Amino acid sequence: MSKLKQLEELREEIEQCVKCGACRAHCPVFGAEKHEGRVARGKVALAHSLLDGKIDLEEKVLEDMSQCLLCGSCCAQCPNKVPTEEIVAAARRRIAEQRGLSNFGKGVAAILGRPKLMNTLAKTGGALSSLLFKKLPDNSGLRLRFPAPYIERDRTLPPIAAKPFREQHPEIIPGKEGAPTVAFFTGCGINYMYPAIGDVFLRALQFLGVTVIIPQDQACCGLPAVSAGAAETVEQLAQQNLRALTRHPVDYVVTACASCNAGIGKIYADMGGDFKDLAAKTKDIFVFLVEQGFADKLAALPKAKKRTRVTYHDPCHLRTRGITKEPRLILKALPQVDFVEMAGAGTCCGLGGTYSVYHYDTSKRIGAKKAANVAASGAELVATDCPGCIMQLQDSLNHAGLSQRAVHLLELVSEALPELDESTGQK
Ligand code: SF4
Ligand code: SF4
Repeated sequence: MSKLKQLEELREEIEQCVKCGACRAHCPVFGAEKHEGRVARGKVALAHSLLDGKIDLEEKVLEDMSQCLLCGSCCAQCPNKVPTEEIVAAARRRIAEQRGLSNFGKGVAAILGRPKLMNTLAKTGGALSSLLFKKLPDNSGLRLRFPAPYIERDRTLPPIAAKPFREQHPEIIPGKEGAPTVAFFTGCGINYMYPAIGDVFLRALQFLGVTVIIPQDQACCGLPAVSAGAAETVEQLAQQNLRALTRHPVDYVVTACASCNAGIGKIYADMGGDFKDLAAKTKDIFVFLVEQGFADKLAALPKAKKRTRVTYHDPCHLRTRGITKEPRLILKALPQVDFVEMAGAGTCCGLGGTYSVYHYDTSKRIGAKKAANVAASGAELVATDCPGCIMQLQDSLNHAGLSQRAVHLLELVSEALPELDESTGQK
């Protein structure tokens, strides 16, 4: 039997919905589409009918169920805390059981479920990069030169690394005696597209004397498969990651990707057993850095004369689990940064896993609001803690014709590391 929750196990939560409509004001998809089927209560009602066998899986039902970012904004505002994102994910699994996966879902499952194939495809994409992609002005990303299935030609994409991050580093990077040992769960974004973020991760942890283990046999966390309703793939990847992350004794598993953090820390945790122990050890990089006193060390540095105005976007997968304070503590402590809060910092950027593939037009409209908020804040950069959000934010900024850039907060930490080394006599 599946370890992921079945729709039946969520009956009580589904029946907690009192149809009050409070979720309407907080659902980004409803905000963009103004259509009742898009809002949480509409999807919860559909899930209820699905559970009771009262509806046929006709196209309209499939369309309504696909129209959810799984962002959790509705649950946070719901008087009864109805977990719509969990209910929708379980309903998608039920639909996939009854009708099979969509063509895109089949592709997601086939590639994620075969990490060697994924590695080969990524390396081939990296080698053929100049042929497949053209560069955008100001180095703000790439666009496809030719039509390709499921990727719009006007979408900004990050470059694919010529060599995946994990192949660039040994599995064990020793630290100092007495400091913690952590496993670095890189996720696919850092491994294949943003290896420089992984490099800063290593430098920051080396500064703290931490021993870092990068299990070479780790796989995708499985979040895209959750979004696609591909239950078997999620469970297969979870098992593989459990083996990879427990092969060495570690104090913590640390992530620099909000989605990976939620994959291991929430989705796996709900699967119970050994996954619960793994989830309990899993920490976001900024939570870890703050706990290790890194923010205090940064705050002790003298403020730079020339500073950059930076705002922060909360990835849904951290915000819904209460991780909002630590990234801001680091940002405020950075000597070269003037932090400014933007309106709607906690609103979804519009990516939503496979959502933006199926519904790119709505995703762009949601992203446009975020881009306008970045511009209104007066910030030059929008920092975040998730490679997927960086990709969506940069795409939205480019569509809006704005010069602001989306960066990982670790990229800003990297600028302060030489000063930290100097202040502590490490160089
Ligand atoms: S999901 Fe929550 S906020 Fe939305 S209608 Fe139901 S009870 Fe109200
Ligand atoms: S999870 Fe997000 S997109 Fe889905 S219904 Fe709730 S607020 Fe809307």
